Amino acid sequence: NTEDSWRPFNMSRVYMADLESTLHYSLRVELAAHTIIRGEALVSLKKYTSVLTKYFPGRPVVMNLLRSMNCWLQNQTGDEILYEALKKILDNSALSPNTALPEGVRWVGCQGSQPHLRRYPCGVWTLFHVLTVQAKNVGGTDPQEVLRAMRSYVRSFFGCRPCAGHFENMARESMNEVNTLSSAVLWLWSRHNRVNNRLAGDLSEDPNFPKIQWPSPEMCPACHTVKNNGDHRWHNEQVLPFLLSYFSSGSILTDYLE
Ligand code: FAD
Repeated sequence: NTEDSWRPFNMSRVYMADLESTLHYSLRVELAAHTIIRGEALVSLKKYTSVLTKYFPGRPVVMNLLRSMNCWLQNQTGDEILYEALKKILDNSALSPNTALPEGVRWVGCQGSQPHLRRYPCGVWTLFHVLTVQAKNVGGTDPQEVLRAMRSYVRSFFGCRPCAGHFENMARESMNEVNTLSSAVLWLWSRHNRVNNRLAGDLSEDPNFPKIQWPSPEMCPACHTVKNNGDHRWHNEQVLPFLLSYFSSGSILTDYLE
């Protein structure tokens, strides 16, 4: 049973259970809405899978599955694939030793106080932050590689279509100014805060998890400065190391994994 009782968790940590649940939902539920994946969507899926294979800081079993999926996908030279064929790879690998993506979701840090709150969209943000930070920490070469992959995944597949439209607008506006791996991390953080700002007080807000300009002063006192006139300013020199540590592979908790 994956939807059982509340799992106690630390609100200022990242959980692998949320990241694996996000991959499960993305690969087995969200993609499954597309019987045939072709053209731009197929290109998006290949980029997304390639970035996951390179930067997802997963357990060896999960990495083996991502690698086998990536290998299969990059070998598809036609203009379209059937989702069913991809699903065979996702499921068949249960036959290969040490290759699997756990079935079902076990939300932890992304639990919501009601079934329609938080969960997958929370997991997607968490996954994206982790990927930008991992690209920086392991020394990716292309500063926009991860952002481009997530932008096109969202455009082609993200189930919340208004969200995809809003994200595309933000990306079109300023993503091409990102020219280092650090600025990619900061770009995603600041756009996420813009979304938080827009959604504060909205029906989609979980009353137990209010939308704030993140991280709070309690989580990162050094990230905040107050100007002489009382206005708030982010201290970006402090925000970057905070994000690099908060989302780093070594800080991810493995509680509640299957
Ligand atoms: P989330 O905003 O999902 O954040 C998840 C976790 O990330 C938080 O709990 C916190 O630990 C951390 N976090 C919060 N802010 C930041 C930050 N700035 N940087 C790094 N980490 C942070 N919903 C809409 O109604 N309209 C939209 O237009 C919309 N657009 C979206 C676009 C994208 C790409 C995504 C992934 C989601 C979008 N959503 C949108 C969903 C919405 O942003 C939230 O994901 C959802 O409401 C759940 O909110 P949450 O409280 O779990 O926190």
